[in-house]
Amino acid sequence: MAYVQRKIAFLGTPATNPETKPFWDGCAAGKLLVPKCTACGKSHWYPRGLCPFCFSDKLEWVAASGKGKIYTVSVMERAEVPYAIGYVTLAEGPSMMTNIVDCDLGALRIGQDVVLKFVPSEGGPPMPMFTPV
Ligand SMILES: [Zn+2]
Repeated sequence: MAYVQRKIAFLGTPATNPETKPFWDGCAAGKLLVPKCTACGKSHWYPRGLCPFCFSDKLEWVAASGKGKIYTVSVMERAEVPYAIGYVTLAEGPSMMTNIVDCDLGALRIGQDVVLKFVPSEGGPPMPMFTPV
């Protein structure tokens, strides 16, 4: 999808830090990893050193199922090449900002079921995005 690759090129290669390195390594291996707290059992997004629910530092990375629902979406129709950006709520609980790709942009709806799709980036790992089921 040319429009997606152009958008990622604009954003540049994602920066990595110790809190996000496992996530990007997961992307490189084709897995969407999300942090999960072993103290309270909740998953969260974005990655950080402490659980936002109970402040424990007992975190592990778990592979997400790749299933989710559109929480909210905006279609950038006036862009040179239109695209959709929004939040997807993962089956594991957290919501993540992402792009919705390979779809009829005008048919996207809140609550719609979507599934993970990795999209190549320039000079970095593939990016986790979503497409309607
Ligand atoms: Zn916790």
